[in-house]
Amino acid sequence: MDENTKKRILTGDRPTGRLHLGHYVGSLRTRAELQDAYDEIIEVADVQALTTHFEKPELIKQSILDVTIDNLSVGLDPDKVTIFQQSQIPSIAELTIFYSMIVSCNQLRHNPTIKTEAKNYGYTDLSYGFLGYPVSQTADITFCNAHLVPVGEDQLPHIELARKIVRKFNALYGTSIVEPEAKVSSTGRLSGLDGNAKMGKSLGNALYLSDTPEEIWNKVKVAVTDPAKIHLHDPGHPEVCNVYKYHCVFNKEEAPGISEQCKKGELGCVACKKRLNAVLNNLLDPMRERRAYYEQHPDEVKDILAKGNKRCNEIGNQNLAEIKEKMHILVK
Ligand code: ATP
Ligand code: MG
Repeated sequence: MDENTKKRILTGDRPTGRLHLGHYVGSLRTRAELQDAYDEIIEVADVQALTTHFEKPELIKQSILDVTIDNLSVGLDPDKVTIFQQSQIPSIAELTIFYSMIVSCNQLRHNPTIKTEAKNYGYTDLSYGFLGYPVSQTADITFCNAHLVPVGEDQLPHIELARKIVRKFNALYGTSIVEPEAKVSSTGRLSGLDGNAKMGKSLGNALYLSDTPEEIWNKVKVAVTDPAKIHLHDPGHPEVCNVYKYHCVFNKEEAPGISEQCKKGELGCVACKKRLNAVLNNLLDPMRERRAYYEQHPDEVKDILAKGNKRCNEIGNQNLAEIKEKMHILVK
């Protein structure tokens, strides 16, 4: 199958820092698995990053390359996938404006994910851009007529909104914009080794894909385990242990044996952490190799983005010309 017959996926990351194992489990791993079967388009969502980080342009600038390299490091092949930078695609901005005419503010205000995020960021009076980011996200997905959007549960209200916008827009103007479908990640959230329900970069508990073996071990060795297991031979309770949770995610085959040994008091926490550390480094080592290559060849990374921007501009400009024609705003 060539890219013309494959279904298209749109996915991406906000460049607000480096990506971590939570991102890997939640999306990057699936991205790598799907890169052959789909025409996969990956957005470095720098405009969306501005909705919360507009006062940190230097962080966004640095993160554009970091996040691109993070994606390449997990084995995404630049000859198969398209990676582009949101701000470089004017058709996305235009489409956002058109969509904004047919979305009500209340629809956005009642979006549960917007509410939760606004609360987490401590926003009381939302900016126009933040309140409207699901509209901009709809334009991200539809400027290229993506069929599928791999998402976590938190993103479902946004995909629902995107589908509503597309249906309304198509009905109004007779356009044939593809109504996207969500592909919900089955893995769910990766918790933090500190016991937090989520690994997150602002929670200070992230294991970054770019961490060195020393950095990984320094984080793994202080992980909170079963508080009732103090001595090596105390019987443990894997069901309440953060390290065991990680064995279940990253070391599936050995996890049942580890659980047995821990419960019988045959496996100490330090040895258990060392085993997890080894498994994590086995996963990260090939990523480190690819990362080292790209870090030594930054021009190649910039070329990958430039190539992606070019392709997305071709797709977007063509689609926008058709859309404007249907909207009767193209004077010929
Ligand atoms: P912050 O702490 O600044 O919010 P973050 O580490 O949560 O940053 P985001 O950029 O908010 O990262 O995450 C983007 C997406 O990555 C989320 O919508 C989610 O799909 C996925 N993701 C982030 N953290 C995890 C995690 N711990 N487990 C699974 N998926 C995650
Ligand atoms: Mg977050």
